[in-house]
Amino acid sequence: MKNKKIEQLDKLQIKNRITVLAGPTAVGKGSISEQIRKLDKKAFVSVSYTNRKLRPGEVNGVHYNSISENEFQKLVDEGEILEWAKVHNQYYYGTPLDPVIKAVKDGKKVLLEIDLQGARSIRRLLPHARFIFLAPPNFDTLVERQKIRSTEDFDEQLRRLETAKVEMQSEGEFDYVVINDKLEDAVKEVEHLMGLK
Ligand code: 5GP
Repeated sequence: MKNKKIEQLDKLQIKNRITVLAGPTAVGKGSISEQIRKLDKKAFVSVSYTNRKLRPGEVNGVHYNSISENEFQKLVDEGEILEWAKVHNQYYYGTPLDPVIKAVKDGKKVLLEIDLQGARSIRRLLPHARFIFLAPPNFDTLVERQKIRSTEDFDEQLRRLETAKVEMQSEGEFDYVVINDKLEDAVKEVEHLMGLK
């Protein structure tokens, strides 16, 4: 059953649409949302809950809200999460509901940087949202970017690339496809689609 708050959120956002940015692992979604968070005062980039350990350079409360699996489950049970998913069959990630409602009410342009499962949930829950798929110029680029990042061990990298192969086939489900060849161009395109510039 749809949470009442989510129903209201969908009505609220008809004029000022929420944007979903999805796409395979290491394609650069994080870099794009980081730029938008820093540069655009009119944007609200949602900070997800996760039980994955933070990477070096990630700041709790800025890039993710780091919590335990039990805490995560409690928030889901209490209806505090807009959407959530177990990503790469491993960790839980979820979008906090209240901050998104507040941002929409404040007239901010909301960006949700989430995985494909999350994008599909949002399509069902908030059909008025705007959906962007961020694609790499080609699959080899993705493999290279994943290797360069090298914050994950080898098994984790393989798991992520397996998910990426499946995710790459979902492009057609999105309203827009942005190719992340040069980061600054991709940022501009996403800003434009969000109605920021
Ligand atoms: P990472 O561990 O690389 O930060 O994120 C792994 C995947 O989880 C990425 O595809 C990222 O977009 C996705 N993700 C991050 N936050 C959320 C969220 O709140 N919900 C969902 N469904 N996916 C998320």
